[in-house]
This record gives sequence, structure tokens and C-alpha cells, in this order.
Amino acid sequence: MSSSSRDPRFDILFEPVQIGPVRTKNRFYQVPHCNGMGHGKPATLAAMRGVKAEGGWGVICTEEIEISPFSEIAPHFEGRLWDERDMPALQLMTDACHEHDALAGAEIFFNGYATPNRYSREIPMAPSHLPVRATDPIQARTMDKTDIKNVRRWHRNAALRARDVGFDLVYVYAGHDLGMPLHFLSRLTNRRTDEYGGSLENRVRLLRELIEDTKDAVGDRCGVVVRLAVDQLLGPMGVTSENEGSDAIAMLAELPDLWDVNIADWSNDSQTARFSQEGYQERYIAHVKKLTTKPVVGVGRYTSPDAMVSVIKRGVMDLIGAARPSIADPFLPNKIEQGRFDEIRECIGCNICVTGDNLSVPIRCTQNPTMGEEWRRGWHPERIAKAASQDTVLVVGAGPAGLEVARALGQRGYEVALADANTKPGGRLLNDASLPGLSTWMRVADYRLQQLQKMSNVNLYLDSELSADEVLAFGFNRVFLATGSTWRRDGLGRQHQAPVLDANLANVFTPDDVFAGAALPSPVLIYDDDHYYMAGALAERLRKQGLEVHLVTPSVKVSEFTEMTMEQFRIHSGLLKMGVQIQTNTALIGAAVIGGGLLVELAHTYSDARSHLECGSLLMVTMRDPKDALFNALQSQQGQWQAKGVKSIQLLGDAYAPGSVAAAVYAGHRAARELDAPELPLDSVPFRREMIALEGD
Ligand code: ADP
Ligand code: SF4
Repeated sequence: MSSSSRDPRFDILFEPVQIGPVRTKNRFYQVPHCNGMGHGKPATLAAMRGVKAEGGWGVICTEEIEISPFSEIAPHFEGRLWDERDMPALQLMTDACHEHDALAGAEIFFNGYATPNRYSREIPMAPSHLPVRATDPIQARTMDKTDIKNVRRWHRNAALRARDVGFDLVYVYAGHDLGMPLHFLSRLTNRRTDEYGGSLENRVRLLRELIEDTKDAVGDRCGVVVRLAVDQLLGPMGVTSENEGSDAIAMLAELPDLWDVNIADWSNDSQTARFSQEGYQERYIAHVKKLTTKPVVGVGRYTSPDAMVSVIKRGVMDLIGAARPSIADPFLPNKIEQGRFDEIRECIGCNICVTGDNLSVPIRCTQNPTMGEEWRRGWHPERIAKAASQDTVLVVGAGPAGLEVARALGQRGYEVALADANTKPGGRLLNDASLPGLSTWMRVADYRLQQLQKMSNVNLYLDSELSADEVLAFGFNRVFLATGSTWRRDGLGRQHQAPVLDANLANVFTPDDVFAGAALPSPVLIYDDDHYYMAGALAERLRKQGLEVHLVTPSVKVSEFTEMTMEQFRIHSGLLKMGVQIQTNTALIGAAVIGGGLLVELAHTYSDARSHLECGSLLMVTMRDPKDALFNALQSQQGQWQAKGVKSIQLLGDAYAPGSVAAAVYAGHRAARELDAPELPLDSVPFRREMIALEGD
């Protein structure tokens, strides 16, 4: 469909915007976002950014780019422009953006006290002495005037390098409690008494100087963008949108070419759907446009074209900033332009993408299994190889793995039958999305079902539990079993590698029972040895139903893995506030039936001190078993496969090894890509790698 068929309601999204000396082709602006690739994997990174440019984003920004070894963020992989030797790697990205007429933006930054400089071992710097943000035993030292001059020089030099590798926009970064100008601006981190401390005018001085330096250095060729956290959400002593956040913008209103405004820190800026709705930052940034005539960009996990049009028409912002929506669907702008709304893969707001950066590995996404795989596996989010045979495919199980393998094979052109025992498709998503705050997770199924409906070569059979005989009788050549998993009830898990409960003990439940509608007698003791969202979300659900809830975990924190998705603090504090009794560092030792309930024995994980808790029911959230009985039955009938025309049977997703929804979608996608692909020798590495040059620099 050509752009002429665009729905005029959305024309406004495709208007160009002038940013200083450069002009965007439309209002779709991929704000800076981390990706776990950075300076470590430049080709991987350039391919990922390039795909977004191809998908229609008018502006594509980098992640943070370190400008000097005096502020580096190892072990995280961010961009680097320490000196000219870092330039060729970034040129890969600007070339990839320009190939598709996107502007490239460089978020150069100096983050002072927010990093311990673990790699360079240089002493971090800050407006005033302060321990670094991480728990490393190191303090940032107070900067003197020479230090300030040095930071300005490094910033200026990095801006020049950014310009010279082709960036069209160059940032001055004061966001997320990571950019040094914000540390100067905030009274919480600036106790100086010289001309850089005290009054707001003084505290804003470094930001002003960096903007002026950058304009002077590259302003003739590059738009200069300020990213400012207008609210730190730290109360009146911090920067707030009601006072100093706005006052600072008013003071510097016309200096930059674009204001990129958001809230700090990153966990506030990138809140998950569990804790925020689309457009959640509006109330902090809506007034910024009244303070400046320069264009404004903001974020808020916008995935709906109507919401995007609305924020522009209401004068909230001029450009639609997006990180996660662009990760979930790199082709979001093109799909809107071409009226392909039902093809938009909406971000579910789960922050699995953030785990990549937090764990220093390439980014991944629940909705978009090709994210991070563009270069190393050559996967494109919209294109896939045509079917390489006439083989027919039976997929059993319409959860995330089954839906994705069926969708991607359908896209390839295979004839696919997708069967599920349930009367509704979605598998585990039907349960997960029923948990408090997780309704957006259903988008994983919705997107795929919408695509399947349009494919005449894919048939969905619901209410169809298949036995081994029925699978073989189907007579399809390739079989994928995405039959899911079931929770264990005997305590086996991370803490206990042998069961601690009799699996038939009365009043012991699993999440499967809860989702099946079991009524749990109060008080409920939830034992969490899983450490992701399930136990915390069930605690919230049961507490909201009025039950007394105790959450016991051997971890030091509730839902510990959600540290990686930046939700842990919100989950833990939310449960405390709603009256869930929390016991951390506590292992379940055993349970015995007493009266109508259970007496549960617990042990402190460090001291082994024993305690007991009486409860009405015990809800075990420890580990899941793959539902592989069908697979095993089919294996035992392997002798019949050939006669029935069956060439292969493969387990997928949770049925192979229970994991995240993202892992199940990825498994489904990968299986679809690999069907009929030439088999790789077992000893070969199954993806491309970026090798380190041994010579050094
Ligand atoms: P995954 O996360 O790996 O996609 P899910 O647990 O979400 O797994 O989905 C598994 C799906 O498989 C469920 O919808 C379940 O009803 C279905 N299923 C399991 N066994 C059978 C079977 N024998 N026949 C048909 N459907 C099945
Ligand atoms: Fe959105 Fe989740 Fe994908 Fe991140 S991982 S872009 S939050 S769907």
C-alpha cells in the first residue's frame, strides 16, 4: 500500500519537524535506549538500528555514549566515543540510519557519581562527595574547576566526533539520574557553595555551558538536544516538574534545538504496564511546550496511533518518543502509514528488553523475537524465507510458542494446523494476563491470532485435545508440540533439589489450581522459589480478594528477578502496603496437616533458625515440569511415524524447558526459521559473532 492510501487522520504523524539545522521526515522518534550491545557489538547494534530506520522511524538515537574513561559504565555495554578509534564502530550505525533517510542521534553523556568506573578504575566525579550509586565501596569526589573544564572539553570533543561520524543530532544528557548536569541541578547531589552550587541559576550552569559548547562545536550541522528529567520523583528536595524542573527549562528555553523530557530514574521512566498506563508521563511533561518555542519529544509507551495523534493535537509534544514500542515493532511507523493497524505488534510493557542491558547481553523482546538477532542470525522482523518444501505442519498447543511457530510458518507459506485442548487460544497467557496489571500480556496472543486469521493456509482447532494416536492419524509431516508446563507442588526447585512435601498433602496448591478456580482457605502461605512475577502477582490477587497472605521466600527480596525488569521495588513495597506479610531469607522445610489447615516449618537461610506458621493453605510457586507426556508417547511409537507420513516431532517452549513468555515466543520463531533450513554441523556456532581484534589499539 502506498503512502497515498494513508488515513488522513494520521497525516499529522507524518509531518516533518525542524530540529535546528536538520529536519525529520516524520514525528516518529526513537529515543535513546540501551541494548546490551553498545561498543561491544557494533555490527549487531547497527543492524538493529538499521531495521528500525527501514521501519520508518524518522529519528533513531543511540544508547548512552561514554565520552571518556573517567565515566564509563562497565560491565554494561553502552556506546563509546573516548577517542577517534571509537568512531568507525558508530559510523556503522549512522550509515544504517541514513540508508533509510532517518536522522541519527548521539546521546553522549558523562555520568559522574552514577558509575564506579569499574573498568578504567578512575575515581568517579560528582558535584559533591557522594558514594557511587551502586554498592561498590567507592565514593565519587567533589569536582574542582579543572575537572569541570575537563568534562566540558571531553563533551565538546565527543560532540565533534559524533558529528564527524555522521550524527545529525547530538545530545546534552541530564536524564535518569545518570547525566552529570542533572547531578548539578538537583539539590540532593549538589552541596557546592561556588558558582556551580546554591541558587538554581548556579546549579543549572553546567547544563547551560554544555549546551552552549555543543551548539558552538556542532550546532551549524547538528540539532542539539537536551534530555532532561523534569521530575526525579524524589520529593521537593529533588527536581520536580512543579518547580525546579520547569524553572530550569524556562531558564534555558530557547538554547537547545529540541527538548527531550522525561522522568528519573530509569525505573520511573520505563515503568512496566503492571504499574503504568500508556501516556503515564504526560502529567509531568505536558506543560513543557508552554515554556519553550522549541520542539518537544516525550515518551509514555505509546502504541496506539490515536493516542499519538492526540498528544500532538493537544500540544503535549511535537514528536512521539518511543523506545519499547520501537523494539516490539520496528515497523510501527510504516504500518501506521500504510494503514496496516492490525499488524502492529504492540509492546506489552514487560521490560524483558531491559534485562539484556542489565545483564550485559544483547537485547531481547517478548513480542519481537527478531530483536537483537538482526545481524547475528540475519532475522528480519517482517521478512522470512519462503517455504522450502510442501511439508504439512501440525502444531499442538496455542500458547506463545505454538502461536508463534504457527504464525511464522504460515507466513512462510506452509500448510499449518494448530490444535489446542482449550476452548480459547493463548495457553499460559490466559492465566498470566488475568493477574493484576498484566492484562497487556494478552497482546502476545492477540497479535499472533490476528495474523493467523488472515492466513488461509493456517487452521486453528480449539477444544481439540490430541492423543498420540490422533497426532499420528493427522498425517502431517512435521509436528511441533508446544504443550506447556505444570507447576510442581512438592517444593522441588532452586532451594530444595529434593521434594520437601508429600505431593498429595491436603490444602497444598499450585498456581495452576488457582487459575483453575480453586478456593484457597485463608491465611495463605505463598512459597516463592521461582523469583519472577508469579508469586508476587498471586499474592496481590489473593490479598485483593480479602485473604490474609504470607509471602515466604528464600531470596533476600520478593520477586528477585524483577530487579532486572526494574519492578522489584514497586512489587515489594506494593505488597507491604496492601498488608501482605513478607518473610525473606526463609526456606520452607516441611508442612503437616493440623485441624483444617497446615503447620508449616520454616528455616532462616543463613542461621537455620526454625520457626512455624499456621495457615489455611500453602501455595507452592517453585518450578514447573514440562508437559511432555504426548511427546514421550509419540517417541514410543516412532516405528509408526514413517507409515503415517511423519518426518519429525519436536518439543517447543515450556514443553521443552519451562521459561519466560519471551523464551517461548523465541523458541517458536526459531523453529519456524529452521524448518527445512540446511542443518548445521553440530560443532559449529549457530550464529555470527563479533570477534575482538587481538592487536589492541
Ligand atoms: P508455551 O509457553 O510453551 O507456549 P503454554 O503453556 O502457554 O506453553 O501453552 C500450552 C498449550 O498447549 C495450552 O493452551 C494447552 O491447552 C495446550 N495443550 C497441552 N497439551 C495438549 C494436547 N495434548 N492437545 C492439544 N493441546 C494441548
Ligand atoms: Fe515491550 Fe516487553 Fe518487548 Fe520490552 S520486551 S519492548 S517491554 S514487549
